Amino acid sequence: MARYRDSVCRLCRRENLKMFLKGDRCYSEKCAFERRSYAPGQHGQGRGKRSEYGIQLREKQKVKWMYGLLESQFRGTFARADRLKGITGTNLLVLLERRLDNVVYRLGFANSRNQARQLVRHNHFLVNGRKVNIPSFIVKKGDTVSVKEKSQKVASVIESMEAVARRGVPQWLELEKSHYSGIVKSLPNREDLTMPIQEQLIVELYSK
Ligand code: SF4
Repeated sequence: MARYRDSVCRLCRRENLKMFLKGDRCYSEKCAFERRSYAPGQHGQGRGKRSEYGIQLREKQKVKWMYGLLESQFRGTFARADRLKGITGTNLLVLLERRLDNVVYRLGFANSRNQARQLVRHNHFLVNGRKVNIPSFIVKKGDTVSVKEKSQKVASVIESMEAVARRGVPQWLELEKSHYSGIVKSLPNREDLTMPIQEQLIVELYSK
């Protein structure tokens, strides 16, 4: 499956949820969801009744778009979550949160997960002082994620760090803004994930 290349604002409108996929624009009056909070397309204003399968599918799509994964990557993460002890749905969300691209976004070094993924791929970050350019890298408790010294002058990093106060940093992470770094204080738990997600629906979908 190819990467999604259409307007990401259409995804928010499709899923009927602000997913904050576009950085600064999401907080401005230009947000397409604020202006047209109905599904895109000719029949978008008349959302029909969904089947059980349809509801489960939309929930999975929503989380997949939020974290910017392809179907195969999402399925792979689900399979890994299923092998771990505990509740599969919670494991899935925690694994997604622990991705390096998400941590970079959460710490405010990027304005969106998409931008974070590009910055990681382009070698702008270190984990515990070592270069890591794999967006799906899973961080552990105690890891330090930092911006490489040379990369601290990258305009998009500086702009994002100026805007981080608006979004806030989750309590399982600690930002050391002056050092361009952040620490994974603890692993996230379900209560830390505040987006409206019903992960059980995803488990049911993949269990069919
Ligand atoms: Fe979604 Fe952001 Fe586009 Fe608004 S601006 S519709 S929150 S991606």
